[in-house]
Amino acid sequence: MEKKNIDWSNLGFGYMVTDKRYVSMYKDGAWDDGALIEDDKIVMSEDAGVLHYSQSIFEGLKAYTTEDGRIVCFRPDLNAERMINSALRMEMPPFPAERFIDSVVQTVRANAAWVPPYGTGATLYVRPLMFGISPVIGVKPAEEYMYRVFVTPVGPYFKGGATPIAIKVSDYDRAAPRGTGHIKAGLNYAMSLLPVMEAHREGFAENLYLDPATRTKIEETGGANVIFVDEDGNLVIPTSESILPSITRRSIHYVAEHYLGLKVTERVVTLKEVEDGHFREAGLCGTAAVISPLGCINDHGKEIMFSNGMEKVGPVIQKLYDTLTGIQAGRIEAPEGWIVEICKG
Ligand SMILES: *Cc1c(COP(=O)(O)O)cnc(C)c1O
Repeated sequence: MEKKNIDWSNLGFGYMVTDKRYVSMYKDGAWDDGALIEDDKIVMSEDAGVLHYSQSIFEGLKAYTTEDGRIVCFRPDLNAERMINSALRMEMPPFPAERFIDSVVQTVRANAAWVPPYGTGATLYVRPLMFGISPVIGVKPAEEYMYRVFVTPVGPYFKGGATPIAIKVSDYDRAAPRGTGHIKAGLNYAMSLLPVMEAHREGFAENLYLDPATRTKIEETGGANVIFVDEDGNLVIPTSESILPSITRRSIHYVAEHYLGLKVTERVVTLKEVEDGHFREAGLCGTAAVISPLGCINDHGKEIMFSNGMEKVGPVIQKLYDTLTGIQAGRIEAPEGWIVEICKG
């Protein structure tokens, strides 16, 4: 297979139209068989449910080439399961887990020429999405849905290595208790766009959201979970009903415990503990960057610095990053079922 003529090492994180996408329609109470198609455009009614009442959910995962030349993806079963949970909360018909995995495999295989070669740092970003497509005028769920998977090659998140970032404690809230913070719905992002642009204008990479009820507990940022390393070098992971269950974060939990022998605690973490300097290192985790090291959290002008500062990555975060990316790339043996082979590269 001939790879596309792309300068893989200089790709950014952007959208590019690739050859094929997978589409399945839900009509008359059932999903159709689904198929790979070429048309990247969608034609729909001006009254489509998604355009009015935002019935829209998505997933994000990566396909990439391992050191020994296989095209694989990472734990797609967890994306499948999470998308089912998102659908149920949005009163949308869940797309079956085994069909989700099959649709990801089919789409990546059909676009194998777009999967970046090993060693370039680039990956193929896979975006499954689902939305209400039939006309809806009174407030109610749509009757018809489109499920779709497309892929786009993206560059290494950190060109020339990770450097710590600074984030700010936000005055906005991300997700209400008993709301939709725990599902991957577009609506959670829509309302975060103003806060994140404000944060960028003030020179911060992201917002750190607190729990809306008491504004004392750490939730997460707009698009990544937060992890902390305590004074003993152990991992502390904030919990809350409204945190999105990041697959990267859950994988880091396992890697910390089983590969690095760290103690891992999942518990409520207060902003006060962070301000009192109880944590030595911190990071943001998500599929795109794996782990972004935190240098500083700014709480209304008060700077909480982590021991690595703004220049270096702390040793525990570095080790977690190296181990997880080593497992993903096939340099370190993966736990059973984490790496799903799609085809030869
Ligand atoms: C997608 C997402 C994450 C990261 O999840 P991964 O499965 O690790 O990619 C974290 N927080 C939010 C709000 C998200 O939407």
